[in-house]
Amino acid sequence: MNSYKLLTPGPLTTTDTVKQVMLFDHCTWDDDYKQITQTIRRTLLALGHVSEPEYTAVLMQGSGTFGVESVLTSVIGREDKLLIAANGAYGLRMAEICRHAGIAYTLYEQDNHKRPQADVVAKYLAEDLAITHVSMVHGETTSGILNDVEAVGRVVKAAGKTFLVDAMSTFGGVDIPVAGWGIDFLVSSANKCIQGVPGFSFILANREKLEASAGQARSLALDLYDQWKTMNEDGKWRFTSPTHVVLAFAQALEELKEEGGVPARHARYDQNQRLLAENFRALGFVPYLDPAVQGPIITTFRYPAGARFTFQQMYEYIKARGYVLYPGKVMEAETFRVGNIGEIYPEDIAKLSAILADFLKEVAA
Ligand SMILES: *Cc1c(COP(=O)(O)O)cnc(C)c1O
Repeated sequence: MNSYKLLTPGPLTTTDTVKQVMLFDHCTWDDDYKQITQTIRRTLLALGHVSEPEYTAVLMQGSGTFGVESVLTSVIGREDKLLIAANGAYGLRMAEICRHAGIAYTLYEQDNHKRPQADVVAKYLAEDLAITHVSMVHGETTSGILNDVEAVGRVVKAAGKTFLVDAMSTFGGVDIPVAGWGIDFLVSSANKCIQGVPGFSFILANREKLEASAGQARSLALDLYDQWKTMNEDGKWRFTSPTHVVLAFAQALEELKEEGGVPARHARYDQNQRLLAENFRALGFVPYLDPAVQGPIITTFRYPAGARFTFQQMYEYIKARGYVLYPGKVMEAETFRVGNIGEIYPEDIAKLSAILADFLKEVAA
């Protein structure tokens, strides 16, 4: 099989050194392993500019959605109600989780190309006093929009509510002062901007609020408090730990530090994204979002009107030459997406652009 680089925002292309550490079958019960877990937890808190005892970190088996479902079904009590500010599929998925679990919620649905507005959130909170929690997505991977978590966090805190944020596709690639933005529970996962492989999600939690949720989880395996209680003792995972993924993640955190931390990674992603948008625009592909709200993770492009080729043809041509694109996900327009996180550099974007230019020449001929 020909290999290729992923321009999909998770799983993404990782370094060889991250993949290599998975060649070791580590035992889970000894101190070395538990120390790895504890170091990861401390490092994640530091990346979020928070620390014990105000905040604590929990690792949870499964993909990112498991982490979101764990938070929603564990910290929202039977008498509580959630306001979801959504502008894409991942925001809507939170509503789906609530329907499955029987959690009371209200949905503030914004267009995919616009950010949820803090003043609208404030209005919901003023008009419905039953709302106790507010949730939103930071980087909506559906479109690539970067939402204003800080502004929404301000009104959530002013109203004294609990703030839950899906920062899946941004944490590690965009600087997030967790406490500074009023975030009580932040969820992200191993295979996004930290550049690990898929297998677990992680939660940065306001410790007092986490402890207050003891005993109210609707699920056994996704019980956030119980997972934390066991892990917090000495780094032991409650059920089988994804050992290879954990080793890869520890290595990925080291490599994030070597790169220069979140600011350096953010700068690289930002440079990738700008170059991508500029080059593709020159080739006739118009970005779906206004640059003012475009995030540095993934870009949605409008499919050119009257194009003489299908997405599938373009995809296959580019894949055969070493890069894999992502289909579109926004509802109202024909689009495709290109992610630029992972082991991707401006050279890759330049190569990709040249391949696309060749493809366009071939189909025009
Ligand atoms: C990747 C992602 C998720 C989680 O998706 P999984 O497929 O469960 O890993 C959730 N929210 C956002 C914004 C994401 O980008």
